[in-house]
Amino acid sequence: MNNKSLSMYRDVVGDTAIMQLKELAEDLKGAKIVHVNSTRIGGGVAEILHWLTPLMIDLGLDASWEIIEGNEQFFNVTKSFHNGLQGNRVALTTSMIETYQETLVENNKRLCPLLENADYVFIHDPQPAYLFSLCPEHKGKWIWRCHIDVSHPNRKVWNYLKKIVSPYDASIFSMPLFAQRLPHPQFIIAPSIDPLSEKNCDLTQKEINRTLERFGISKHIPILTQISRFDRFKDPIGVIEAFNLLNGSVDAQLVLAGGGASDDPEGEAVYQEVLEAAQDNDRIFILRLPNDAHRTINALQRASTIIIQKSLQEGFGLTVTEAMWKSKPVIGGNVGGIRLQVHNHHTGFLVDTPEGTALRIRELLRQPDKIKTIGKTAKFFVAQNFLLTRHLREYLTLMLAFRRGLENDLISV
Ligand code: UDP
Repeated sequence: MNNKSLSMYRDVVGDTAIMQLKELAEDLKGAKIVHVNSTRIGGGVAEILHWLTPLMIDLGLDASWEIIEGNEQFFNVTKSFHNGLQGNRVALTTSMIETYQETLVENNKRLCPLLENADYVFIHDPQPAYLFSLCPEHKGKWIWRCHIDVSHPNRKVWNYLKKIVSPYDASIFSMPLFAQRLPHPQFIIAPSIDPLSEKNCDLTQKEINRTLERFGISKHIPILTQISRFDRFKDPIGVIEAFNLLNGSVDAQLVLAGGGASDDPEGEAVYQEVLEAAQDNDRIFILRLPNDAHRTINALQRASTIIIQKSLQEGFGLTVTEAMWKSKPVIGGNVGGIRLQVHNHHTGFLVDTPEGTALRIRELLRQPDKIKTIGKTAKFFVAQNFLLTRHLREYLTLMLAFRRGLENDLISV
């Protein structure tokens, strides 16, 4: 976890935003808060918890971040839940449910004392959700924070998960489209980025150039980049198809860069598929990065002319926010949280197909002025909406609503 304090963000977000957070946090001083998810490295949730937890501590809250542990079989099951919740057809067998529940019973032996004593427990995503049923003596409020696109879930998987999360005190979704029929208040909180993290801080041109040299990427030819875990929902093959459709009509290089997450067992297979699809094209760079390659990703994003995030489903897409913060136009899949961020002709383009992606790449590469204007708007839009102080404020407000006993006045969808 980083050890930043809120005062370090003054230059980026201004004094007023920081003062507001301190005032809001006054009534929550000393409150015990526990976040639980399933990985400390890889993916957007870990990215957020790395700054959210220390900043809550800096505000005087007694916050901590725990992860659940599991074997390969467990993460295969939870990946299957994840795929099902994002709309895929998946199996849900008794043995899968047993694996899931038994692993959480094991984790609960370690976590239960902490969770039962906490004032607020934030359970991130489905992997640890079953913990609620295992802590009947808990005294605080439990909030299920769903980061994934559950707008059209596989019914079987959702019905199972719904039973598990219904008794929670509240849930949080990233956008209204994801809200579900649940018997408790639902909050809509969009994710955000840390502008001072290694992933997003300013870099010298020298460091950016060195990164390109390391991978043999030319700085003289426009670079199109998609940063993602190797996951089918991120559609890396669709990106390669789009690139091939350009067929030399514009000069460009394609970079697909990413690693895995320790809770994502499908990465290796998808990586192999991508290598195969990119074969024989020396303008395509497939980069397998270690989990802590934050500065490398930062440099690749900054070196790029256009960022692509052609996801087929997306809870939010922090990679989109990161790119926009670096003043890059984003060509993003017309799905989920990408639609909160990418607005046609303003901050980038939404696309549905490889053909559409190729069309927009060509259009942008032929208009350098448009790349600049869109990039500028994109950065401004992130500054207004998707920086960590706004995100933190919404978490504090949610906890205050409970502290003041307002939950019965909150409207459930
Ligand atoms: N990321 C990373 N290394 C990788 C791939 C992604 O550090 O190899 C980061 C990326 O920069 C972003 C987060 O992981 O901060 C991914 O979040 P996003 O919401 O885009 O997608 P998720 O992986 O959570 O589905």
